[in-house]
Amino acid sequence: MIPVYGYACNQAKGPLTSYTFERREPRDHDVVIDIQYCGICHSDIHQVSDEWGGSTFPMVPGHEIAGIVSQVGTNVSNYKVGERVGVGCFVDACRKCSPCHDGLEQYCIEGCTLTYNGVERDGKTPTQGGYSNKIVVNENYVLRIPNDLPLPRAAPLMCAGITLYSPLMHWNAGPGKRVAIIGLGGLGHMGVKIAHALGAEVTILSHSLNKQEDGMRMGADRFFATSDPKIFEKLKGNYDIIINTVSVELDMNNYLNLLRLDGTMVIVGLPEKELSFGAFSLTNARRRLAGSVIGGIQETQEMLEFCNRHNIYCDIELTPIQEVNEAYQRVVNSDVKYRFVIDMKSLK
Ligand code: NAP
Ligand code: ZN
Ligand code: ZN
Repeated sequence: MIPVYGYACNQAKGPLTSYTFERREPRDHDVVIDIQYCGICHSDIHQVSDEWGGSTFPMVPGHEIAGIVSQVGTNVSNYKVGERVGVGCFVDACRKCSPCHDGLEQYCIEGCTLTYNGVERDGKTPTQGGYSNKIVVNENYVLRIPNDLPLPRAAPLMCAGITLYSPLMHWNAGPGKRVAIIGLGGLGHMGVKIAHALGAEVTILSHSLNKQEDGMRMGADRFFATSDPKIFEKLKGNYDIIINTVSVELDMNNYLNLLRLDGTMVIVGLPEKELSFGAFSLTNARRRLAGSVIGGIQETQEMLEFCNRHNIYCDIELTPIQEVNEAYQRVVNSDVKYRFVIDMKSLK
């Protein structure tokens, strides 16, 4: 077994503290990665707080992993020692169902194997994530990070990047389309950059004007504070696509009414409490309400190439792992510009 150092949460809502554990020796198709950076996603916070139910402890969070291959199994053909790689939200899937065959492993019928807070395909071995110095992953679930993408700023693409890229592509964001992004956090700021690069007209709906200057620099065309109730009247019927990235429940009727005829709201934010809305908010303009979760391996690789071509990186604050609990509090307070990334050198 391979000894690993990291940070874990031992009970729901407890602090993260240093933790030693083991990972498997690489099997024939496994890649061992020295983790250099790991982003802090709001999903990490929901899960250590057990806000979605079913969390298991001790939990080493982290699914925005960037690092360097340090060892490969005997039959690994895609990766070599020294290459720059990433790992996102899942590390395996059933590999047999129709979504798996179609490269949509995130919708695997049996459920994909989450990078942490999950179990391996044996149904019992717990998985542990990227707030640690090493991870062992089957090569088919590893991403290649293009050379021009700086590793720390690429790490959050593994979740925040793909989570916005996938729905923007699926619902055809592009020239002539008006896209609104609700919430300028880790996910939201990637949505702004990607939608802008796709040629859409981009609006940010943020709860205050504090992030306006940053948002316009990222490529937004318009920016509104949702604390002003007048904007819901002013922007009514305006958008083709709205992506809701907010981590708490919102007044859905207000936001659905901002969609034009046949417009679609895509939910990617995963609040603890249920969302509710009135039927009229959909029927009176044949609107659609949809959801989307991360993206498959092939699409994640495509997203990395897209970001490389368009010089799209995450805006990050690097943090030592010893300050992860303070970083969590700042994320909860919407006070991060715009993703914390743990510098794993601090573990040594
Ligand atoms: P984040 O960085 O905390 O961003 C969330 C943003 O929501 C904040 O920056 C803030 O934007 C807004 N917000 C937060 N609290 C609010 C409040 N009380 N009222 C109004 N707006 C508020 O989080 P994230 O990492 O981007 O994740 C966002 C959500 O997506 C989380 O629920 C996470 O679990 C989920 N997620 C889903 C997927 C998926 O595949 N579907 C993947 C990753 C994450 P403003 O300051 O601009 O208002
Ligand atoms: Zn995430
Ligand atoms: Zn499957």
